Amino acid sequence: MGQNLSAAAKLGWVDAVMASYNFRLMQEDKIQAGIDACHKAGVAVIAMKTLGIRTDHKIETEEDKKIVGRFLKRGFTAIQANIKAVLADERISSACVGVNNVAHLASNAAAAIDKTELSQADMATLNQYAQATCNGYCAGCADICNSALPSVPYISDIMRYLMYYNGYDDRNGARELFAQIPAKVINRLLSTDYSAAEARCPQNLPIAKLIAEAVTKLA
Ligand code: SF4
Repeated sequence: MGQNLSAAAKLGWVDAVMASYNFRLMQEDKIQAGIDACHKAGVAVIAMKTLGIRTDHKIETEEDKKIVGRFLKRGFTAIQANIKAVLADERISSACVGVNNVAHLASNAAAAIDKTELSQADMATLNQYAQATCNGYCAGCADICNSALPSVPYISDIMRYLMYYNGYDDRNGARELFAQIPAKVINRLLSTDYSAAEARCPQNLPIAKLIAEAVTKLA
């Protein structure tokens, strides 16, 4: 993503880029450099995957409870804090946030309209949380797991569909997308050894376990 953003800034004919950007990805130097380059070149950056939702979407660890409690005391939810963290960045022109009901839409719009700014301590908390929970977030760097396991070139997609199911509660949408994977690939999902992909995954995702969860929920 960082390389693509930097390349887009140099081309001279790109007006806007929609790129994954959230409180997790904003920790990465290459992405920061790419967004800087776009901003300087006058290329608008529209954030997508704005919420940084984990593939497993668990809210059970101490880190999860701490961050939810912290932001509720500040008057907004952790999800709203994630939106604020992206919109606070002047280099970001807009944020695209998926919703599947009116309550989500109202909550997201309220986060965008509300003038309360995240403090440095809030941003530091999000940073710490991103690091503590990175092994639940698929960063979409599909070239890495695809090159490790070319026989199953859908790992990143399946992680995303599972995130739609778990994080957005979009069960039908996730199942419909999963059904578009070729049957010959689906048939080998549970018998594949994912250790090579897990060894290369920069997020340390437990890929085999998540694929098994995806097959159970989406197949
Ligand atoms: S390498 Fe890991 S983080 Fe990157 S797309 Fe594959 S599963 Fe996701």
